[in-house]
Amino acid sequence: MKNISVIGAGTMGNGIAHVFAQHGYTVQLIDVNAASLEKAIATITKNLDRQVSKNLLTEEEKNATLSRLTTTTDLASGVANAELVVEAATENVDLKLKIFKDMDANAPAHCILATNTSSISITKIAAVTSRPDKVIGMHFMNPVPVMKLVEVIRGYNTTDEVTKMIFDLSVSLQKVPVEVNDYPGFVANRILMPMINEAIYTLYEGVAGVEEIDTVMKLGMGHPMGPLRLADFIGLDVCLAILRVMHDGFGNPKYAPCPLLVNMVAAGKMGDKSGEGFYKVNKETKELTVSASFSKK
Ligand code: NAD
Repeated sequence: MKNISVIGAGTMGNGIAHVFAQHGYTVQLIDVNAASLEKAIATITKNLDRQVSKNLLTEEEKNATLSRLTTTTDLASGVANAELVVEAATENVDLKLKIFKDMDANAPAHCILATNTSSISITKIAAVTSRPDKVIGMHFMNPVPVMKLVEVIRGYNTTDEVTKMIFDLSVSLQKVPVEVNDYPGFVANRILMPMINEAIYTLYEGVAGVEEIDTVMKLGMGHPMGPLRLADFIGLDVCLAILRVMHDGFGNPKYAPCPLLVNMVAAGKMGDKSGEGFYKVNKETKELTVSASFSKK
């Protein structure tokens, strides 16, 4: 495989495009929003500069990586020569079903269609295409250039051959693939999201403040980031969407999202991407302070 298309240029899409281009693949980055594409190229450039400053990459390798990246707002032409498409658009089932129908209609017949979904059924997504054997989950972790894991999720009809190709491809990106089966939240979010939701309940019920909860989990459990900080980093809208998929998929009330999370998303407090969630991010200095809604009176 050489030609890769990535659909969605947000938090994950820009990281996925970065990693593929850095490892020699030709990448078409596709988004409906031209501003997202511009922002993605700026983010990739900044992240490559950081790799150069840490001597992880040379200036020539940075320039070669950027030269392998092109962007477009047109899905049909963007996937026309792809051997693999990795979809990383917004976590919304109807949106993903539509994108997969469009991808199936426009990508070559041999092209593998992968999704970076955090929780939505691969089997359900595959069912709207004419090639369910070639649809698979390729779940990268955030931030993609740094995190080693790729959860490889087999849908009901995904073949051994396609799974092996995605395993080999992940290794070529210097990632570590792990095979899991297709149930809501897979493994990573099945375990992570109930912890984040419980941390939000702990705040909502007044058991402790934002920094106290995060400090307990960092110093007490050795987590590199507290769960509320991690929720802001992932995106509160993404956390809510994943919890809803698990709640619907298992029909178990233990996955019901905390009402505080629901309210914050309704109020536009999405975490880092909107500038505020449990913490507020200073646009210039990037310094974090506890959001005024949760700071002690
Ligand atoms: P995001 O909101 O940062 O970006 C989504 C992008 O998709 C936006 O740029 C938007 O313009 C674009 N988009 C929307 N509709 C589109 C369409 N029809 N065609 C093309 N582009 C379209 O979201 P994100 O956090 O990058 O999440 C993307 C996917 O990755 C989701 O499925 C999410 O569950 C998954 N994921 C997220 C994380 C995380 O930490 N944020 C981690 C792993 C997986």
